[in-house]
Amino acid sequence: MNINQKTRLNMVIGNPLDHTQSPLLHTTIYETLGLPAVLLAFPHADLAALIMAIKTLSVELTTVTMPYKEQVLQYVDVQSAEVQALKAVNTLIQRDGKLYGYNTDVNGIEYALSNIELTEKNVLIIGAGGAAGALGYVLKKNQANLFWLNRTVDKAQVLASEFGGAVITAKDLAELTADIIINTTPIGMYPDVKQSPLTAYEFTRKQTVFDMVYNPVDTLLLKQAKSAGATVISGVEMFIGQALRQIELWQNLTKPLATDSRINLLKLKKLLTGTIK
Ligand code: NAP
Repeated sequence: MNINQKTRLNMVIGNPLDHTQSPLLHTTIYETLGLPAVLLAFPHADLAALIMAIKTLSVELTTVTMPYKEQVLQYVDVQSAEVQALKAVNTLIQRDGKLYGYNTDVNGIEYALSNIELTEKNVLIIGAGGAAGALGYVLKKNQANLFWLNRTVDKAQVLASEFGGAVITAKDLAELTADIIINTTPIGMYPDVKQSPLTAYEFTRKQTVFDMVYNPVDTLLLKQAKSAGATVISGVEMFIGQALRQIELWQNLTKPLATDSRINLLKLKKLLTGTIK
């Protein structure tokens, strides 16, 4: 990489950021597109100090992760429609000193599910946190039938009243014919790779199973689903999709980067999977 006086600094903010893959993914794409910029990780316990740094250094693109996705809203000058609906931000773009907040997790989910028919399909959603909210937003838009399963039932109820669908418990699982199963919890994430959010569940080859966890790529949940012949989608797809949208917003691109011939999606997946444990 050629770093010079024109190189821009972008950031990922969160705390901790020990396992973030955003610097690798972003900086690789910048290089591919010839954008003179790097993205570096800034873990810090003081969000106000991070916002001050973004403003002082005129940082154009900031990717926001846990635990700041909701807290950062108070610093956003202009909210996208998705942010207004979800009250969560994963992207800050600074234009003329103003902070524009976006939620490209929505785009990442749409990208990961782009080959899957959602309308009128029964979708089992495991978990009811921020990522589940973004999923509910996408599924509602696509008129899917939602079934919410979460450790804390009250949180599932909040999302069901926001995005529609029914709240279920583990004992209802056997009676539900789920076309699509989506894990939005961190269960199965490194280092707890021997855990799955669904134990003793009979997957079928007609199902599609999407795990938002992207480290490891092949989670136990996806291994279980694959051995029953189900279609599986890794969280890596969502991770790449949300990052591509961040770059489109930053660069004001009108054509989706996923269709840009310079972007080799398979190579990006290999890059991430090669480095993810
Ligand atoms: P969050 O807001 O903290 O929500 C986590 C959800 O998981 C909550 O509903 C929580 O249940 C449930 N949960 C956590 N640990 C559990 C356990 N041991 N047993 C049962 N349920 C458990 O987190 P988030 O922002 O939604 O993120 C969730 C996952 O999605 C993370 O693994 C994150 O890495 C992944 N993610 C991936 C991408 C991507 O690009 N691939 C993007 C965003 C997020 P309670 O409600 O009972 O607490």
